[in-house]
Amino acid sequence: MTTEAETRMGFVLGLRASGITDQAVLKAMELTPREDFLDGIFKPRAYEDVPLPIGSGQTISQPSVVGLMTQALQVTKRCKVLEVGTGSGYQAAILSHLARRVYTTERHRGLARRADALLAAMDRTNVTVIARDGTFGLPEQSPFDRILLTAAAEDPPAPLLDQLKPGGIMVLPVGQSDTVQTLLKVIKTDQGLDYQSLGDVRFVPLLEGMAGDEA
Ligand code: SAH
Repeated sequence: MTTEAETRMGFVLGLRASGITDQAVLKAMELTPREDFLDGIFKPRAYEDVPLPIGSGQTISQPSVVGLMTQALQVTKRCKVLEVGTGSGYQAAILSHLARRVYTTERHRGLARRADALLAAMDRTNVTVIARDGTFGLPEQSPFDRILLTAAAEDPPAPLLDQLKPGGIMVLPVGQSDTVQTLLKVIKTDQGLDYQSLGDVRFVPLLEGMAGDEA
C-alpha cells in the first residue's frame, strides 16, 4: 500500500526529475491537492503526469508542464498575476501560494463557477475567478506583473502585452495548430519585448468569445 504522503512525495520527486527545481514552486504544488480539481473517476489518476478531462471538452494540464510554466513565470509575493484559462482552477490555486493577487479568466461559465467554488472552499482568498473571454485581458485590473495563458494562441495577444508592466513576464503556448506549439516566455524590457522559447507543448486553443453551450 502506498500512503498519501508517499504518493505526494513521489509526485514532487517526479516534478524535480522534469526540471522543476524552484523550491517555492515545488512547495506550492505539494500544497495543492490535484485530486480536488478532478471528477470522481479521474481522482485516482491525479498524481500521474498526464492531462485529464475536466468537462466542457477541456483538460487540466499535465503537472510537469504546470510546474515548468509556473517556474518560468518567476512569481514573487509582490506580484499581481493574470491567468487566462482557469479550467479546473488548479493552476490558479498554485499561483495563489506564490503571488500577492491572482485574477483568472475562463470562457466557459460552468468551469468558472466550479473553479470559483473550489478555490473558495480551499480558502484561496487572493484569487478572483472571472467568467470572460480573456483574449482582451482584464483592463480594469491592469497592469500585471505576470501573465500566464494556459490555452494556445497563434501569437501573443496584443491587449495582453499592453497589460504587462515594464519588467513583467508573460508565459504562453503559441502555435498555428493543435499539434505543434511552443512554450514562449516574453519579458517586457525598456528596449522592447524579449522572447525565449521553452520547448514544445500541447494545449487546447485560445478561443474568442464566451462558450455558448452553457447557461
Ligand atoms: N489552467 C487550467 C487548464 C487550462 S485548459 C487548469 O489548471 O485546470 C485551458 C482553458 O482555457 C480551458 O478551460 C478553456 O475553456 C480556456 N480558454 C480558452 N480560450 C479562452 C479565452 N479566450 N478566455 C478565457 N479562457 C479561455
